Amino acid sequence: MATLSALPPVSLLIAPARLWISYTLARHRSALRPVAELEFPRLRQFFSSELLTSTRYEAVDRIPMAPPLRLWSRLEGAQSAAGLTLRDAYFVRRDELQREDLHAHELVHVVQWRLMGESAFLRTWLSDEQDRGYDANRLERIAYRVQDEFLKTARPFDAETRIAQLMMRAALI
Ligand SMILES: [Zn+2]
Repeated sequence: MATLSALPPVSLLIAPARLWISYTLARHRSALRPVAELEFPRLRQFFSSELLTSTRYEAVDRIPMAPPLRLWSRLEGAQSAAGLTLRDAYFVRRDELQREDLHAHELVHVVQWRLMGESAFLRTWLSDEQDRGYDANRLERIAYRVQDEFLKTARPFDAETRIAQLMMRAALI
């Protein structure tokens, strides 16, 4: 059976990943809508209107997957992702569209992307995925943590400050 170590080093994946991201966003440009258009009351309490206006989303039947990601998700047995963030846009599976906490999760990735810059975000996400696996991927752990707090807390907090705090604590920024 193939192993993750048989894959190319992460440094070689960054340039093709960025090309694929540009290509994918261009292909979906007309379908991507501002997140601010969604009727989600809670998102507005946790995320700034600037972020919700500048971030776009699209509901899709199948999440677009970059070739290396498709390979990795197959190797790890992850069947179908519910969402994927690319720069300032994200895709959510149509049957998960009404899950407000999923939007919160993807917005965390948008903020992480901003805070780290594209190359560092991709390098960290991909190398964590390769070396630690999805469950221990530091960027995912932060996204799931904020998503969980978003779901459970009664009192809204500034999610963008919270994300920066967790990123600093993990020495990612
Ligand atoms: Zn995630």
